[in-house]
Amino acid sequence: MLSKVYERNYDMMGAFEISAHMMKLAQNNANGSTFLNAGRGNPNWINTLGRMAFCRLMQFGIEESKNTINDESIAGTPIENGIAKRLVRYLNEEDPTDMFIKKSIQYCTIELNMRADRLVKELVDAILGNNYPVPSRCLTHIEKILGMFMEKTLYKNSGLAAKTDIFPTEGGTSSIVYIFDSLKHNGLLNEGDKVAINIPIFTPYIQIPKLTNFDLVPMNLSSLEENNWQISKEEIEKLKDPSIKAFFLVNPSNPGSHALDDETLSYIADVVRERKDLMIITDDVYGTFVDGFRSVYEIAPYNTLLVYSYSKLYGATGWRLGLIAINKDNVYDDLIKKLPEEKKKTLRYDYSIVTNEPEKMRFIDRICADSRSIGLYHTSGLSTAQQALMALFSLSHLICEGNDPYFDVTKEIIAKRYSKLHHALGLPDDNDKTNTKYYSLINIYTLAGRIYGSEFEQYLRENMDGDDFMLRLSQEEGVVLMMGEGFGAMEGTLRVSQANLNDDQYELVGYRILRILKDYFNESGFSVTKNKINEKQKND
Ligand SMILES: *Cc1c(COP(=O)(O)O)cnc(C)c1O
Repeated sequence: MLSKVYERNYDMMGAFEISAHMMKLAQNNANGSTFLNAGRGNPNWINTLGRMAFCRLMQFGIEESKNTINDESIAGTPIENGIAKRLVRYLNEEDPTDMFIKKSIQYCTIELNMRADRLVKELVDAILGNNYPVPSRCLTHIEKILGMFMEKTLYKNSGLAAKTDIFPTEGGTSSIVYIFDSLKHNGLLNEGDKVAINIPIFTPYIQIPKLTNFDLVPMNLSSLEENNWQISKEEIEKLKDPSIKAFFLVNPSNPGSHALDDETLSYIADVVRERKDLMIITDDVYGTFVDGFRSVYEIAPYNTLLVYSYSKLYGATGWRLGLIAINKDNVYDDLIKKLPEEKKKTLRYDYSIVTNEPEKMRFIDRICADSRSIGLYHTSGLSTAQQALMALFSLSHLICEGNDPYFDVTKEIIAKRYSKLHHALGLPDDNDKTNTKYYSLINIYTLAGRIYGSEFEQYLRENMDGDDFMLRLSQEEGVVLMMGEGFGAMEGTLRVSQANLNDDQYELVGYRILRILKDYFNESGFSVTKNKINEKQKND
């Protein structure tokens, strides 16, 4: 019989919480092996250029501020008139960071039609943090920069930047929370409403709708590995049911890690033609890890709210940098107009404390107001310094005109780690262009089948839980991964993040998975009929 090592019941806990528990076990693992945490998606790289530019502009801004008040450690605020010229004079022609700043200003004046003084003043003030965010939803020049970044990366050549409004937030996490809260507050999602969720998916999208204050009825639209993680036409056609109010998806997916291809996007476009009232929330955090990525926002701009985060690409999880993008012409504003009179009345009451035309307040501005309980709308909005860093990261891409070496390097890093892991496990690489390679989903049962044959695979399916395998991997081998099941993936799948260990450690992760599998095989009493164990695992 196989031994069960876990006594706790993990059924109610989320994948991230279980993984946090595993960390303690892994750090004190039985073999004294190096602790390897490939559970979370936090990258172990950072973007230096955006951060360096931030520091330089901070220094410049402090010098500028001394022009108005200058006494010991007190200074005033920068003067707009002539500030761009003074900045150029301040910059060193030999310094790559300084030249990036110079090029960025040129880009904004030429490509985005900005006045240099206005732009520099906004950026410098934002970095100094000398004022509340005004306008509160997003600083005006920064909104244009973020908008162009989004278009160039997630909906190329669509021309949508000019028609898109942006609300920068404290990370994709806050974007998700704010969207759910405002959909609820504005009566666009009510208790008992049906929402479709493309699973497997980042756990909060499963957990939040189930919370008692939302109490939504989730309906799964599945992506299957057999179908290259696409959503099939039949699944997408379920959205034709008018009782489904909203559709949530992560694209490219997490943990499936694949982007929707053109065919799948065209099915969604077809459905949306029939379902003009469908609300779609797409989380495109991993979009830049796929060449030629296309967001659902591109094919259904009227219906789609887009969530993005700078956390993963720029290695900035601690900064909390995310945003919500929405089309100027959108279903949310139109559905608000059609609400029952009773609901309209309460909303008029709520928003009338911040505007004298509450009926006309757009959904994106309502999200911003709701994020500060409406009453604090005048001090709402993301910290200006955070907005500025997002703009600088965006500019580091925009000035490359489509050929950004930083994007290439981040893709190469995760691709190398992905290959090392798969090679160690004896699994083929999936080099399809939709594969981000940010995460791998390893199915322990099918892996067992490949190595020890189908009878043993069947035996494991009947006798071993996925969480038991993961617990042993932590306790005995010091490796922490994430359970795919919490994401709505198949039982027995483990998510490996390719973002947070050094390249060579991914081989170790693979060998250690194989070692635990071998232990299970030995304990099971099966004879070695088809022993195809990768020889390399012995060298770990
Ligand atoms: C990591 C992640 C986020 C969280 O982004 P933050 O900006 O760090 O809050 C959101 N959505 C998905 C799908 C993610 O994987």
